Amino acid sequence: MILPELRSAIPAGRVLEITTTTGCIVGCSYCPQDKFADRQRKVSDTKHLSLGDFKRCLARVPASVDISFAGYSELWLNPDCTEMVEHASAKGHGIRIFTTLVGMKGQDLQRLQALRLGVFVVHVFDDGAHMNSRLVGAKYRDLVGQLVDADIPSIRFVVLGEPHPDIADIIPAQALVRARPVSSRGGSVDPKIVEPRQPFVGALICVDERQYRNVLLPNGEVTLCSMDFERRHVLGNLLCDEYGDLFESPVFCEIVDRMNGAAGFLLCRMCEFADPSDRTD
Ligand code: SF4
Repeated sequence: MILPELRSAIPAGRVLEITTTTGCIVGCSYCPQDKFADRQRKVSDTKHLSLGDFKRCLARVPASVDISFAGYSELWLNPDCTEMVEHASAKGHGIRIFTTLVGMKGQDLQRLQALRLGVFVVHVFDDGAHMNSRLVGAKYRDLVGQLVDADIPSIRFVVLGEPHPDIADIIPAQALVRARPVSSRGGSVDPKIVEPRQPFVGALICVDERQYRNVLLPNGEVTLCSMDFERRHVLGNLLCDEYGDLFESPVFCEIVDRMNGAAGFLLCRMCEFADPSDRTD
């Protein structure tokens, strides 16, 4: 989730986002999940990131890199997600969570409350305009209520549009951030929902240095950033590469060259986070 309303709450620094599963039932219209799932299934039949593979990958990542449970699909559709969060926290990583809560149970939430969470953003269901509101039932309402009562200092509730009527009354108005979809995910979102930007020409920078906020996929591969739903830039695989190798790989060197103006495909040219490299503010 890339929203200007949240940027001040999100620390800088290197991040590895985790995609725990391929395929998502939440069905946000502004998420190009289907494109990710199509591309990913062509190269791997691993649906869920296994706990064992997560631990193997994480062992190659320095503790200074925050682990962000966000990625290209709803995290808690993988039943091992809470244990992954606990493991990353025990290994000394800063933890960031972005979730719709789908798949999470009350017990998961109790376990999460015992951890120090640097960022905890709950993407609240809307009124059905953009999300599959059939997933909003009594259990979901109870979980949201449990979260409101939990008083987790870092928590933010965010809704894109209007909150679902069954939960609108339990989230305090001052705790709810209202936003709207703003990113075309490098042109992957349906253009009727978010119009893609004009392709950027010339040398550029990523305003948040998101080339260092990469995404781990269920099969261990790592893509450039949270815009790269279509796997356009795969830096390596943490089941066999060290974390540092990702940034010395031919693919990453090519990205750097192209950010500096070299010819060739670069996702950043379609991305709202790209700015001219000579920007002075
Ligand atoms: S500018 Fe490039 S690195 Fe930055 S978010 Fe966009 S696609 Fe990713």
